[in-house]
Amino acid sequence: MKIGFIGLGNMGGPMAANLAKAGHDVIGFDMADVAIEGVSMAESGVAAAAQADVVITMLPNGQILRAVAEDVIPVMAQGAALVDCSTVDVDSARAVATQAAEAGLLAVDAPVSGGVGGAAGGTLTFMAGGSTEAFAKAAPLFDIMGQKAVHCGDAGAGQAAKICNNMILGVTMIATCEAFALADKLGLDRQSMFDVVSTSSGYSWTMNAYCPAPGVGPQSPADNGYQPGFASELMLKDLRLSQQAAQSADADTPMGQAAAALYEQFVESEGGLGTDFSAMLPRFEKRGRG
Ligand code: NAD
Repeated sequence: MKIGFIGLGNMGGPMAANLAKAGHDVIGFDMADVAIEGVSMAESGVAAAAQADVVITMLPNGQILRAVAEDVIPVMAQGAALVDCSTVDVDSARAVATQAAEAGLLAVDAPVSGGVGGAAGGTLTFMAGGSTEAFAKAAPLFDIMGQKAVHCGDAGAGQAAKICNNMILGVTMIATCEAFALADKLGLDRQSMFDVVSTSSGYSWTMNAYCPAPGVGPQSPADNGYQPGFASELMLKDLRLSQQAAQSADADTPMGQAAAALYEQFVESEGGLGTDFSAMLPRFEKRGRG
């Protein structure tokens, strides 16, 4: 396939490289001056998109996605697919899908989980929204860039799945960290805390697979000085998107709201920027109730 790839950053770069390695003809564009193995670079997003069967975007946010889509949709060939893998707000994903459909194109919103390691290793999970036909066109590419793709429903469903999942993740991480800090103050040692909770009803992915306490449970960013991993500011981005969606759908999400406020405080005024999102534990350790 001829693939246009726009946004070749930490995630998009290795994803595009994997498509090229699998034998696809990949033409890339990024605002920054980047070189990606096997990918030929175009002068503009429009030039990368013009002849493509599939255009993939991997961009920072919904506003940039809307601007790029505005430029490339008019030059894409009828029946070609626009596949956005960025994490953006549900409203932007739906607006871009509508615009693409009006121009006779297929569209898929397909945010990912798995981070930079998953992008490099071709082991991402894709959560996709769009028509069956659009998903079928993108699916072989998801197979190259990832290990799993779930077709969640119509346009916007991929973004909806992603932010609901990450809202649970943010809330659960905070709950796990505050419980560890309470256990410390109650004189319970962390290994005992882990041994009990990881096999009791308080278990979760954050406790069992990504334990925020160093030296306890499986290897995680806590064992590496809280280097990300999944950075606190990216968690904040996803929590904000969840609250934006909750606002526009009139959904009551008090825990998500509290998690968004806490990560905002952590990232913006408590030194959390650039740390893994599990660094909430040392944050709680240092604090009392007041
Ligand atoms: P990044 O900042 O490394 O990459 C974004 C790239 O887009 C940059 O290279 C930038 O120059 C380029 N860009 C910006 N505006 C552009 C434009 N108008 N035209 C062309 N290129 C443009 O970010 P990233 O870490 O690769 O993340 C990309 C997306 O993936 C984000 O939406 C993020 O939320 C999501 N995501 C990231 C991770 C992660 O662990 N990094 C995990 C899951 C999802």
